[in-house]
Amino acid sequence: MIHKFDAIVVGAGGAGLRCALELSQHNFNVAVLSKLYPVRSHTGAAQGGIGAALGNEEPDSPEWHFFDTVKGSDYLGDQDVIQVMCEEAIEAVLELEHFGLPFDRTADGKIAQRQFGGHTRNFGEGPIKRAAYAADRTGHMILHTLFEQCTKHKVRFFNEFYALDLLIDGDTCRGVVAYELATGEVHVFQARTTFLGTGGYGRAFSITSNALAYTGDGMAICLRRGLPLEDMEFVQFHPTGLRKLGILVSEAARGEGGILRNREDLDNVGSGKDGFMAAVAPTVKDLAPRDMVSRAMYNEIIAGRGMEGTRDTGSDYLVLDLVHLGEKVINEKLPDISHFARKYLAVEPITEPIPVQPTAHYAMGGVPTDVDGRVQLNAKLQAVNGLYAAGEVACASVHGANRLGTNSLVDIVVFGRRAGKSMTQYLQDSEFGRISGEPDGFVLGEIDRLKNGSGKEKVAELRRAMQKTMMAGVGVYRTKQTITESRDTVMELRRRYQEVAISDQSNFFNTELVEALELGFLLDVAWMIAESALNRTESRGAHSREDFKERDDKNWLKHTFITLAGDEKVEFDYKPVVITKFQPKPRVY
Ligand SMILES: Cc1cc2nc3c(=O)[nH]c(=O)nc-3n(C[C@H](O)[C@H](O)[C@H](O)COP(=O)(O)OP(=O)(O)OC[C@H]3O[C@@H](n4cnc5c(N)ncnc54)[C@H](O)[C@@H]3O)c2cc1C
Repeated sequence: MIHKFDAIVVGAGGAGLRCALELSQHNFNVAVLSKLYPVRSHTGAAQGGIGAALGNEEPDSPEWHFFDTVKGSDYLGDQDVIQVMCEEAIEAVLELEHFGLPFDRTADGKIAQRQFGGHTRNFGEGPIKRAAYAADRTGHMILHTLFEQCTKHKVRFFNEFYALDLLIDGDTCRGVVAYELATGEVHVFQARTTFLGTGGYGRAFSITSNALAYTGDGMAICLRRGLPLEDMEFVQFHPTGLRKLGILVSEAARGEGGILRNREDLDNVGSGKDGFMAAVAPTVKDLAPRDMVSRAMYNEIIAGRGMEGTRDTGSDYLVLDLVHLGEKVINEKLPDISHFARKYLAVEPITEPIPVQPTAHYAMGGVPTDVDGRVQLNAKLQAVNGLYAAGEVACASVHGANRLGTNSLVDIVVFGRRAGKSMTQYLQDSEFGRISGEPDGFVLGEIDRLKNGSGKEKVAELRRAMQKTMMAGVGVYRTKQTITESRDTVMELRRRYQEVAISDQSNFFNTELVEALELGFLLDVAWMIAESALNRTESRGAHSREDFKERDDKNWLKHTFITLAGDEKVEFDYKPVVITKFQPKPRVY
């Protein structure tokens, strides 16, 4: 079936919904496609907060936020774009408030704010309260608020439609091809302009905070159509995933005063005394940026101060102590994460510390865009006509080598809106263009191969092997040897993927087929992460090479662009980092 819309938005998370809302307000014919029912998008899992220099609890300024984000990014973020984000964050949060988002309040009725990692006052003097929040359900509230607004503005939703390909004609995008889960039908959506807000790829790793649907689809679709991906080596590991499960314990827990402890420090549980982070980052302690905290945790474990096991077994962990915060703070400000600790680990955070370990959390890299969400055709800033992206799938690049907590929720609303505005401009004088050949040919071929192939490979087995090797070789610490092993394993798994055959032949909610398609995307993305990590011979932000321990600004103060150059070959190109105000300095907290 062929549909025709002025604009197609793929993804109904915060970025997609904010973009769709903008377009609908200009009376364009907009449709949102989402593989999940909209309010199941991962934005709904975001817990801790959205950062904006509102200054409601203490004096603050967008410039401090700008500085913190640049420093947090290990100077790889593009400063022109970061400045825009930090300035527009304030308006974006107030706009959410006016849409009806129930933020927590200060005693005098303003939006309440709390501390978060890497956010400081006066260019690094000490932690600042910058994260606006709704208990530990901030993302849930954002998602529902934006969904309500889209419904009010009559945005058309195609729920449980799985986008599998882009219609790229030369340097112009003409829409998408999607599979309808309820019927098995393949649809062609012709559009004058298309937006990708499909989120990240955390499921490439065995321990992750990410939802099952985080399978890197948007990135892989672009890659397969010859477009580049930017800075894929930078994968954020959040310090506090629930042990073995990876389910997130928000940084808000440390923002409220939580302290990480090692085995030798257990006598101090409940005392509120400093833990090992005080020596690593004397000014901000447990609120150092995530890359530093995750590394510090591994260092504790390597030094034999973890709670159990060795580094190789992956069973090591540390603990997060909230006991001194008291029952009221824990229950009122951190209700969801306390519930997770009770439910999944049978640990009572009011009286016991919570077992935690670093968990794959966020994609700093992705589909390269400019400040208005235009997708880049190459490192030379040429844009793909009509194609836009924002949110976790994209790389603008505001997060550089390491994202600060609360900056993703800002990213999705600020750049979702900017992309929407830019798309309305583009729509003023663009045409539908012609779609030639068989637009759904590639997708139909892939589905046919998976359903009717004679191969013997199984999706679950390949996926497990990929997740294990990525965690082991391209995790918090990496070396040439570990990355090469993981890269080779992933390439072998890609070959075996060609022999995958599924048993479910039905057209009705064929989840086996969906999982097989998702695995194909994940394998491509995992391969790009490994190749990019191997290529960057320095340590910066979340990319820590044990064989190249130092940051190397002389050779590597630049963005990586990776593209496919054949079935098993990649090519690299580079884009300079935009530095407007803050010159790179050593990162001390
Ligand atoms: C547990 C957790 C807690 C977090 N807490 C915070 C926090 O406190 N503060 C903060 O700033 N950030 C936080 N983050 C990060 C932040 O929530 C995400 O980066 C952000 O919400 C991503 O939004 P998005 O709109 O890009 O994608 P998502 O919200 O994930 O939406 C992706 C959408 O794309 C759709 N989709 C994907 N692929 C396809 C396809 N092929 N076809 C059709 N549809 C598709 C999905 O159905 C979904 O609707 C957290 C993340 C996690 C995992």
